[in-house]
Formats: sequence, structure tokens, C-alpha cells
Amino acid sequence: MVEVPKSARAVIIGGGVSGCSVAYHLAKAGWTDIVLLERKRLTSGTTWHAAGLIGQLRGSVNMTRLAKYSADLYVNLEAETGISTGMRQVGSISVALTAARHEELLRQATTARIFGVEVAEISPAEVKAMYPHLNVSDVVGAVHLPLDGQCDPANIAMALAKGARMRGAKVLEGVKVTGVRQASGRVTGVDYVVEGEAGHIAADVVINCGGMWGRDLAEASGVTLPLHACEHFYLITEPIAGLGHLPVLRVPDECAYYKSDAGKMMIGAFEPKAKPWGMQGIREDFEFDTLPEDWDHFQPILEAAMERMPLFQAAGIHTFFNGPESFTPDDRYYLGEAPELGGYWVAAGYNSVGIAGSGGAGMALAHWITEGEAPFDLWEVDIRRAQPFQRNRSYLKERVSETLGLLYADHFPYRQMATSRGVRRSPLHEALAARGAVFGEVAGWERANWFATEGQAREYAYSWGRQNWFENAAAEHKAVREGVGLFDMTSFGKIRVEGRDACAFLQRLCANDVAVDAGRIVYTQMLNARGGIESDLTVTRLSETAYLLVVPGATLQRDLSWLRRHLSDEFVVITDVTAGEAVLCVMGPKSRDLLAAVSPADFSNAAHPFGTAREIEIGMGLARAHRVTYVGELGWELYVSTDQAAHVFEALEGADLGMKLCGLHVLDSCRIEKGYRHFGHDITDEDHVLEAGLGFAVKTAKGEFIGREAVLRKREAGLARRMVQFKLRDPVPMLYHNEAIVRDGQIIGPITSGNYGHHLGGAVGLGYVACVGESAEAVLASSYEIEVAGRRFAADASLVPMYDPKSERVRM
Ligand SMILES: Cc1cc2nc3c(=O)[nH]c(=O)nc-3n(C[C@H](O)[C@H](O)[C@H](O)COP(=O)(O)OP(=O)(O)OC[C@H]3O[C@@H](n4cnc5c(N)ncnc54)[C@H](O)[C@@H]3O)c2cc1C
Repeated sequence: MVEVPKSARAVIIGGGVSGCSVAYHLAKAGWTDIVLLERKRLTSGTTWHAAGLIGQLRGSVNMTRLAKYSADLYVNLEAETGISTGMRQVGSISVALTAARHEELLRQATTARIFGVEVAEISPAEVKAMYPHLNVSDVVGAVHLPLDGQCDPANIAMALAKGARMRGAKVLEGVKVTGVRQASGRVTGVDYVVEGEAGHIAADVVINCGGMWGRDLAEASGVTLPLHACEHFYLITEPIAGLGHLPVLRVPDECAYYKSDAGKMMIGAFEPKAKPWGMQGIREDFEFDTLPEDWDHFQPILEAAMERMPLFQAAGIHTFFNGPESFTPDDRYYLGEAPELGGYWVAAGYNSVGIAGSGGAGMALAHWITEGEAPFDLWEVDIRRAQPFQRNRSYLKERVSETLGLLYADHFPYRQMATSRGVRRSPLHEALAARGAVFGEVAGWERANWFATEGQAREYAYSWGRQNWFENAAAEHKAVREGVGLFDMTSFGKIRVEGRDACAFLQRLCANDVAVDAGRIVYTQMLNARGGIESDLTVTRLSETAYLLVVPGATLQRDLSWLRRHLSDEFVVITDVTAGEAVLCVMGPKSRDLLAAVSPADFSNAAHPFGTAREIEIGMGLARAHRVTYVGELGWELYVSTDQAAHVFEALEGADLGMKLCGLHVLDSCRIEKGYRHFGHDITDEDHVLEAGLGFAVKTAKGEFIGREAVLRKREAGLARRMVQFKLRDPVPMLYHNEAIVRDGQIIGPITSGNYGHHLGGAVGLGYVACVGESAEAVLASSYEIEVAGRRFAADASLVPMYDPKSERVRM
């Protein structure tokens, strides 16, 4: 009989590689009173049948950091635990068959170098020398990572479990969690069954590492964990004579990866249209199961493989493997504490990189749980990015049929999903569509990214260079800088904070002073105790007891969660009112003339100064006009009740003052010229508000607020780094983010966000430069280059915005 404790500090649900890694790292951090519960046997879900590729090349800096951690950990795990992990650093090669793919690989290699991952560009001839079986006649280029590896996935999990046990953790098999109990918004423990008997473990922390079971498990507790299983395939050949020792090989343009092991070849697939699985739930007795063969589905991959590696033409097939794995709507896994329930943590949804990902993810989550904060910015994989609607199974089923294949597709900048679209729409959606809008999606919202001209195809032609909408964006940019443009920003998250203590509550959370008169708008951050930025927002005081908080659409759940977590016994009600109001942003030097044409209100500086909001009549309706800007121009954001949004839009359009419809791409390019920060890229919970250059929005004199001590300490100690704006002197190369900043010949960090500055005439990017003990002048005295796909380009650097440094245009 399995002995289950009555209480534990933490209960981990699931004994796959994810749960084992979380247990290992929690125990390593000193939390030894923990228990891992596995319904069947360890690894019997997805982990046992993974291909075992451990790659470090990732699309972003922090994902690279985590992948590198995993690889380093797995190399040492055997010595630590005595369990053979099969980890061999055979290296890996990724080959490009197109120029676009080559550029992507080189860009990723630059990102990897920022974190000291060993990576080299190699020629087709060098590929052939390392991989003689490969047909390289059409290979354009490749990268080689000598320290990438392959492993035995089940043994990695077993070694992690043993490492956890060695430190006192209990790892129990045959114990199924049947429910997570909660009281007053926090978990209190788990119910389970073991050998037909029910029991309960009291616990403060529960971690859902349930893999493809995770969604349903979470939903039963009111937690959103959007993931869905897909069938995932590989083939293993019979032994092939003379195969030799080969590195792992990826041919993403043919949706395939190759691994050699014990004289056999394995080929795995990331086919463009995947097969979702498990719509009716997962059988209770599922354990070390496989799914039926599907030769027709695999055929195109195999045919390409026979050309790419002719030895497949003669090789016998030993195993056709098909097993389920969970995929997420954006191909990123989930880590962190669920916003809906205190003490409920997740580490799930690994999109076929769970073995390579779990080492780093387990370390990061354990740090987050035990220290109360993530070790570094994890917004990319943060569970708080999930939208409640995304747990809809029809949405998930359709979306994951696309996301599996996207892992090996070209990861072009601005690439949009093709499936599960149109779930959240602005009241202006149809009107904008009729006027040429080409939409992109964020958090389920359809947003006009750019506007096609008459007769132009309303679709993206993706590339790493100037895409087909470059000239459209240039024209929209010009309209905002010289005339007037309209952006539909209905996707903004809108939160009402109301009640007797609303002011005191927000004063405690916001770094700026929000005890202002009704009608004032305050730009502020909410900080953590380290002075890191948890939220970037505007706070508008609507009345003595009511505020409207406006946040990016993508961070709404995170911001709501931050607010709710910090509410104590204050008399405050927090409500998500996002869907109640559309937001029409009228921006540009002619915005005042435009509004004056459709409204009797006075828009002069005296009557409506910057940073104020008031109700106006517009057309035959009403709006609240907020004088703020994210593009660095004179402008107003019009908050309009959704029922009147179409009317207000028609009124503005009817004024016939040359208003140009503008998309989100231009919003971004304008804001980056003006040096405005973007949450999630330039500013995160890891970035100190003073180092982000946002000290102007911090008012320590107002009294206590979260992060104040950290601000005072930083003022005393001096900045360790500064946010710098860069512009490439060569007008051709493009910046997106994750390119490397090179200071006096040394790579020092990533570009946090980049775009094309149509007004400044070149690519513009933001990024941090370390400056311990250095003056601002010393930082600027260096010479800067930006490394883009392995090539370095000279850049101008500035600590003040290159566009309108004194903000005269905003206040004109
Ligand atoms: C064909 C294929 C090839 C792959 N190749 C690679 C690769 O090369 N590299 C790589 O990094 N990744 C690879 N993967 C992905 C990798 O296998 C997964 O990402 C990883 O195993 C997921 O681990 P997990 O712990 O999240 O899920 P799982 O291994 O499924 O573990 C979840 C566990 O939770 C348990 N559980 C569920 N509900 C309960 C409950 N109520 N109570 C108790 N226990 C519960 C389940 O029984 C299960 O054991 C591959 C996957 C497939 C299918």
C-alpha cells in the first residue's frame, strides 16, 4: 500500500518530466516537505516516448537561457543521481533550404550568442562533412551547435525524480488527484484516490504538471490552462550498416528532424496540418499508450526524407510511432501561478519541447514559488497571458492543428495565425475591413495591423526584410506625423477600480501619484518589491471614488490578477470593463481640427490640456476624450460606449479632413521613434523602473507604495544599466527584437524591441546597456553596432528620444 502523507508544503500533480523537474528543483531549493502524485507510473503519459532532442536554439533570449540551463543540467544529472540519462552532446545541425530560413537561423544564432551558447555558421560542404548521408545540393546554409544533445527522456525524468527523493521529496505512483480544494481564493489541498481509496493531502501550494490532462484538471478548479493534445509522429528504421556517429539534424523546410541511435535512424515530423487528439477526453486506463499508425499522414514527410537522405529508400521501418503531446494556442508553454486561484501553479503545455524545456522551466518555477518572484522575465511563458475564452475546446482543437506545424515553419516577423480567428472583434471591425484593413490577432482580438490600398491583396507576404505592407506603413506613419490618423485601440484592457478606498489602494500599488483631481490622467507603473515593472498603464480619475485603468490588451489578465492579489481589506471593487467601450485614437498635428469639426467641445490647450480627460459631444453621441498619446503627437483617445462606436467613427470619417486609417504596425513604429517603452519587451518585472528610464513617473515623495524602497536604494546606488535608443545608419536592415547590441566590439545584450522608423529613416531599436559606475556621457561615448543575422551594422545611440526629445509636438 502506498503511504500518502496527510499534509505537505507542496503537492505536484503529474510524474512526467515536468513534474519531476519541479519536484527536483523545489527540493534543491530546500522545500523538502513536498509530494509528487502520479496517477499511473512515472513517465507513462507523454514523456516516455519523446524523441529526446535537447536543442538550445530558441527564438528569444530568455527561452534560450532556459534551454541552455536544461542542457547543462542534463549533462551533470547522471553523476549526481547515478541514473544513466543517455545524454550525449552529439551536437546539432539545422539546415536552411531557402534564403529566408537561412536568415532566421542566423538571427537565432545571434540570439544564442548573447547567452554564451556555442554556435557556428557552417557551409553546405561542412554540413556534408559532418553528415555524409545528406543530400546538400540545395542547402543554402546551416548552423551547428556542438553542445546540443540527445538523451533518453524517460531516464531524464527518472533521474530528476531520484534527485528529488534524495533530498527528501516523496514521489508516489498510482495516486490519482481527483480534485483541488480551495477556500477564500486559495488552494488548501488535494483529494486523491489510491488503490480505490480516497484521501486528502492538505497543502498551501499545488502545481499542475498534468501534461495533456492539465486543461481539464485546471478547469475543475476554475483555472484557465488552454492546451490540447495532437498526435505526434516519428519513424525508427531497422539498423543501417555504416551509419556512424551523427549529430542531430533538423531540416525545418521539410518539417523533419533526424536522430541516429544504436545504428538506427529516427525521423520525426512537424507536419503543417496536425491531427488534434483527445476531444472526447482521455481514457482512464491510458498508460504508456500509443496511437494508431497513419501512413498517409506521414507519407509527404517520408517522401522528402528519401530524397534528402537516400538511405531511407532502402531502410526497413522498425517502428511507426504515434503518441499524443499537448500544444498551446501560441506554441509557448505555461508557467506561473494561475490568476484565478492563489497557490495554484502550473508547468504544462510543452509543445514538443518538454524534455529540452522542463529542466529550465522547473528551475524557474521552483525559484518563483520559493522566492515569490521569477528569476528573470518569463512573460513569454507566463500563465497570465492566457485569456479565459481560450479554454474553449473548439477554439483549441482548430488552433493546435496549426501550431504543431508552426514550430518548424518560418518564424517570420509579424506572422499571423490562420486558424481560430475572429473570436474578439471591435464594433468597428466590419467598417475597417470594408476599408482595406489587414488584421492581426492579439489575445483573441482582431486588430487592423495595416490598411491595403485599392486593389492591393489584403494579405501578408512575409519576409525578413521589408514586407509587402512597408509602403502602406510609410504612408500611415506620414499621416500621423503630418496630418491625422485614426487607430482602433478597442483591444485596450479597461479596468474600473471603484469604492471608498480606491484612491488609497491605487496609491499603494502605483509608483506615480494618482491622488489627483477628477479628470486627470496619470501615466504610471505598478512595481514589485525589487522596483521591477509589473504593469505599465494609465490611470484616469473619473470621480472621487472611481478610476479607469487602461492597460495593453495582452496584459489584462496579468494586471487584473496583480490588482486582486494586492487587495486587502480595502473597500474597493475591481471590474473588467474592456468590452463596454471602444477606443478610437485620433492622432497627429491635425487631430484638433478634426475633433473641432465633429464636436462643439473646446480642444485648446487651455480647455483640454495634455493628461486630462472629459466628456464631449461628438456627432450625435458622447465620448470621453483622453488627451494622451502613444505615438508622440497631439492627439486624443476617444472612449466610446460600444453601441455608439460605429456612429462616432462615421462622424469622424464624414468630417472629410484627410483622416487616414492606421494600423498597429505604425502605432509601434511611431512609439519606438519616440522611445516609448513597450511592456513585455522593453519593460518587464525584471527591469528596474529607474533603469528603464521611467523615473519621471515615480513619485517617492507621495509616501509608501510597493517598490518605493527599491527605488530609493537604486537612487542611492546608481544605475547598473540604462535603456538606450539605437538607430541603424544603414537604412536597409530591419530590427524586430533579440538582435545583439555590440558595444565597442563586444556583444552586451539584446535589442528589446525594434521597428522601422519611417520618419527617422532607418530601423530603430531599444535595449539596455550596462553602465555600473559610468556617467551617461561615458555610455554614449562608446561605439555601437547591432548584430543582425551575424552581420554588424553601425548604430547611433541616444538616451533621449530621437524623435521630438522635448515632447513639444505632444503639447502643441
Ligand atoms: C513523438 C514525440 C516526440 C517528442 N520529442 C521530443 C524531443 O525530442 N525533445 C523534447 O524536448 N520533447 C519532445 N517531445 C515532447 C515531450 O515528450 C513532452 O513535452 C513532455 O514529455 C511533456 O511532459 P509533461 O510532464 O508535461 O507531460 P506528461 O509526460 O504527459 O506527464 C503528465 C503526467 O501527469 C499525470 N497525471 C495526469 N493527471 C493526473 C492526475 N489527476 N493525478 C495524478 N497524475 C496525473 C499523467 O499520468 C502523466 O504521467 C516529444 C513528444 C512526442 C509525442
